[in-house]
Amino acid sequence: MADTRFKPVVALVGRTNVGKSTLFNRLTRSRAALVANISGLTRDRHYGEGRVGEYPYIVVDTGGFEPVATRGILVEMARQTAQAIAESDVVIFLVDGREGINAHDHEIARLLRKSGQRVLLAVNKAEGMRHHADLAQFHELGLGEPHPISAAHGDGVAALADEALAPLLAERAAQAGESPEEAKDGGEPDHRIKLAIAGRPNVGKSTLINTLVGEDRVIAYDLPGTTRDAIEIEFERGDRRYTLIDTAGLRRRGKVFETVEKFSVIKTLQAIEAANVVLLLIDAREGISDQDAHIAGFITETGRALVVGLNKWDAVDREQREWVQREYDRKLRFLSFARVLHLSALKGQGVGAVLKAVDAAHAAAFAKLSTPRLTRTLQAAVEQQPPPRKGIFRPKMRYAHQGGQNPPRIIIHGNALDAVPDSYRRYLEGQFREAFKLAGTPLSVEFKSSR
Ligand code: GDP
Ligand code: GDP
Repeated sequence: MADTRFKPVVALVGRTNVGKSTLFNRLTRSRAALVANISGLTRDRHYGEGRVGEYPYIVVDTGGFEPVATRGILVEMARQTAQAIAESDVVIFLVDGREGINAHDHEIARLLRKSGQRVLLAVNKAEGMRHHADLAQFHELGLGEPHPISAAHGDGVAALADEALAPLLAERAAQAGESPEEAKDGGEPDHRIKLAIAGRPNVGKSTLINTLVGEDRVIAYDLPGTTRDAIEIEFERGDRRYTLIDTAGLRRRGKVFETVEKFSVIKTLQAIEAANVVLLLIDAREGISDQDAHIAGFITETGRALVVGLNKWDAVDREQREWVQREYDRKLRFLSFARVLHLSALKGQGVGAVLKAVDAAHAAAFAKLSTPRLTRTLQAAVEQQPPPRKGIFRPKMRYAHQGGQNPPRIIIHGNALDAVPDSYRRYLEGQFREAFKLAGTPLSVEFKSSR
């Protein structure tokens, strides 16, 4: 029953300055509109979402082929980069069309050939290049036909993305009935809730899963057909059905689940994307690490509903509890919409509250917001505090309607709305949140000017 298809992953590989981050920005640009409207993001330039037509995929800018020692590509090759290549579905290898090939390119090419991954060779900075003569040299890398592109100007980029994704999307389309979009929107509150439990290694994910699932009837579980399919664990609690989506190599050993693989950013990201609600587990003994904040950033970027669990609460004393709370307020302020639970997965304390909080977050994420109520809330908010003028323009807000779910998107229509400052958008977000009791989900407030 593993019907969760992870989004395909495209890894961008190449030495410094060939244009990886320029290409990354161009590929992920389509996504910016929604993301920019969710407040408090920590953007990470290394992972983003691109689209071919309506099909989303994940782009990873590996950025990591930096020499850290004088010799030896294996030293240079950051572990993360190797892992990203191994976990991707296709690699785009960038070289610099102006500088030509150097020894470093040859070394990377050799590793890529050895990896067995599908690789597309992109010759960047090719604007104005006289194709035949200049491109011929790149055949030498032994990675097939070179694709001339200009990441800076956009030439050839869409065709490159199409070619990279075409076989993966065809495979996906061939798989029975359900389109990715349907899969994403199908989580009505009375259907099963797709839940991902995310967190660094050792925070207690598998302990919690065993506590949760152990008390309930496990309907089905699946080992993956390929490494890129999700593992799903289905269970029921009362009249609710939940599907747990694996984040990082969960395996069933006898009667219990355990995490056997090392932490994978890509798998975590894919599982978060495939879920409706994410439970972010944090080890209270360790405080809030950069990696915790990173994962939290992914979750808000994808707009998923969120519950935070400060786990191992049994093992921290009062002083430490206060310290963790301060750390949380300082480093994860942008998660203020999420409910925070204090848990001991090991002792089963607070675990009962987990699914209640998950249900509530899910209900908020899929709330139906009627146009008249949204518009009334908008008018009351504007009356209480009108948007500031910008020069001669005074933004005029006419009405609001719902533009989507998970996260709820509220679209405000009016005039001169591009002059509305972000602080005012956040004010409105707070007003909608309060009026509709939307705790546990990010909320996107967007403006549409009609002139
Ligand atoms: P990265 O180190 O591989 O991520 O490379 P960057 O994306 O930072 O680009 C390195 C430099 O190459 C920057 O100065 C870019 O402006 C430039 N660059 C990137 N793409 C192109 C391109 O298509 N044409 C030209 N002429 N310059 C480019
Ligand atoms: P995972 O890597 O996130 O799946 O973490 P595990 O579930 O394997 O847990 C890592 C370690 O933390 C194990 O030794 C667990 O027994 C321990 N652990 C998990 N939850 C708790 C808890 O609530 N309290 C304490 N004291 N230890 C815990």
